[in-house]
Formats: sequence, C-alpha cells, structure tokens
Amino acid sequence: MNTRVIYADNAATTRLDNYAFDAMKKYLLEEYANPSAKYSFSRLPARVIKEARNSIALCIGANHNEIFFTSGGTEGNNWIIKEVICFDKNAHIITSCIEHHAVLQACSSLEQKGYSVTYLPVNKYGQVDESSLKKAIRPETKLVSIMMANNEIGTMQNISSLAKIAHSRNILFHTDAVQAVGHIPIDVKRLDVDFLTASAHKFNGTKGTGFVYVRNGIEINPFLEGGSQEMKKRAGTENVAGIVAMSVALEKNCQCLKQYKQSMDAVVELFLDELRKRKVDFIINGSETSLPGLVSVSFKNVEGEMILHRLDLKGIYVSTGAACNSKDIEQSHVLKAIEVPREYINGTIRVSFGRDNTTEHAAIIANEIADILKR
Ligand code: PLP
Repeated sequence: MNTRVIYADNAATTRLDNYAFDAMKKYLLEEYANPSAKYSFSRLPARVIKEARNSIALCIGANHNEIFFTSGGTEGNNWIIKEVICFDKNAHIITSCIEHHAVLQACSSLEQKGYSVTYLPVNKYGQVDESSLKKAIRPETKLVSIMMANNEIGTMQNISSLAKIAHSRNILFHTDAVQAVGHIPIDVKRLDVDFLTASAHKFNGTKGTGFVYVRNGIEINPFLEGGSQEMKKRAGTENVAGIVAMSVALEKNCQCLKQYKQSMDAVVELFLDELRKRKVDFIINGSETSLPGLVSVSFKNVEGEMILHRLDLKGIYVSTGAACNSKDIEQSHVLKAIEVPREYINGTIRVSFGRDNTTEHAAIIANEIADILKR
C-alpha cells in the first residue's frame, strides 16, 4: 500500500496550523459560551473575538472596526457584490472574466435581476489592462471588483492602480484577496481598497471562517440578517474557535512572508527545472508576478485529469485546469480567457505548494509527471 502523501493543492485548502489548532481547542471544549450571553462565562469568548479582530486588522493595516467575520470567501464576495449596489437599481458593476465563481455567480444573479455587469478581458498572462477598466466605466458604475490573485494561474493584479482609477471616478473598489491574504504582504490603506475578502482555510486557518474588510464610513447593508453580532452587519453566533484559529494562523504567516516567498520560489523553480531536465513538453500559464508556490503548467495533447489520477495513485495531490464530464472536457474559464493553445489546454495541472512542501517534493512530483507522460 502506498503510504506516502505529498499534498500540493494548497490553493484548494491548507493544513491547519498547529498553534492555531492548540489555540482554538479551548473555545470548543472549555470556554464554549455564546459570546453574546449576559453572564460571566461569556466574557472570555467575547474578549478573544475582540483580540482576534485587533490582531487581524494589524496584519492587513486596517482598523479593528473595519473587520467583519464571515463564513469564508464565498460569503464575503456575495455580501459585498450584492449589497453595495442594492441602493441603486440602475447600478453597473465592473469585474474581470477570470474571477472566482463566487464573484461571477453573484454578478450573474444580479444581471438576472436587471443590473448590468461588464466582464473585463485579460491579456495572455491573466492581467487586467488599466485602459480597459477606464473605458468600461459609465456614469452609473457603482462598484469595481477585481481579484488580487487568481486561484488557477496565480497571476496578481496591480490592485492599487486599478483602485486609483475607480476612485478617480468616485466608484467603490472591492478585491477578492482569498488567495493572497497570508501569502503576500497586504496593507489595505496603501492599496486604497474599500472592501477586501479573505478566507481562513487558504492561510492555515479552519474551513468555514473568513473576514471582510470594509473601509470606515462606507455604508453597506448586512447580507445575513438576524442578531446584532458584528456591529449589526453580519448576524449569527460567532464561530469563536474558528476566529481564534484564523487570527493565530494569519499572525504567524504574516511574520514570515519573506522567507515563505523565498522558499516557495525555490520549490517552484526546482519543479520546473526537473520537468525541463526530463525534456517534458510544457508551457507555464500566468505571469511572472505570480502567487508564491502556485504554478500552472499545461502539457501537450494529454488530459490533465489522467495525470491527476495517476499522481493520486502515487499519493500526490494536485489539481487540474479542466473537469471531465461524461461527454467532453469542460475547460476552465480562466485558461480560455488567457488563450492557452488548443493542444495544451486540456493537459493543465495546477500545483500549489505550501509551507509543508520541500524541494524534494517538487522533484518527486516533476519526475512522476515525466514518467506518466513517457508511458
Ligand atoms: N475566491 C477565491 C479566489 C478562491 O480561490 C476561493 C476558494 O477557492 C473563494 C473565493 C471561495 O472561498 P471559500 O472556500 O472560503 O468560500
């Protein structure tokens, strides 16, 4: 039986940080009171939520009252996209065609309600062009939503420049930073964004926890209504343990972002070098300015799903860029948008290394892929 596990799908989710796990346990087993209750048993849970909010705010250069806890990236994106524009029935939104489905589906459901949405194209590296944003702006544009880093190809956008363009026309700017928070340095004030979405399980926190940054002074309706939690902006009993774990994981990741980038760059470089050494025919998707550790490669005239399943048998876990259904291959909207050549697009694999991965893992994965392709 194969007992080796090499997990290299960290853009899908990450392993919970050990310190975060230790920190959260107490709020599940001992200090489990509802933080909104009036008795003294709820004091500690209420206090740790406050501390987590402060700590998370510090990590991204925000104020504590600009952080709102959510259930993750999907909720955060839906909240901002659907609630920012609801004050104006004629509102127009601008986004990009390579956003995560949590943004694209939210936009599509607004279109069905009569709102209009422009989906900006990207260049072959997956970058949004500033002039296309300028051209798409209309008098009724209320919100621009552009992701910070793409989850399939890792391309990072020049968010501060795009936000500047939006603000010069008095338009609000949101960024889906789910893949970026805890992986690259982020300062919301320097980026000058109005809203930012994050998800804990992408940075070694737990699944089902996240936060949204909302710049002070911006009016936004709650997405979930009910109790008065989260400054009356997000109802529902707080996931105290998840929030504690998220703040510990984020603080820890943010303390070593420079070393993390160096080590991820070395791992990716070695992976690509090994593929080249084995004379594998492949192309790299995305831009030079890519998320640390994420590499999307396409192999000629093969199916990525076949590679994924063969690697799976070897205890190696990566992701594909296309999904097979019973009839044909459903290609990813991102790979189509960057125009990956026809003979390569179905053979796409996304390897997303994380902090548990080593150069040895990179070499093993590259050589297993080379062996599979040779066969
Ligand atoms: N946005 C991006 C860019 C993502 O990669 C993901 C998850 O893969 C999401 C949003 C959704 O996040 P969550 O899984 O926390 O709902």
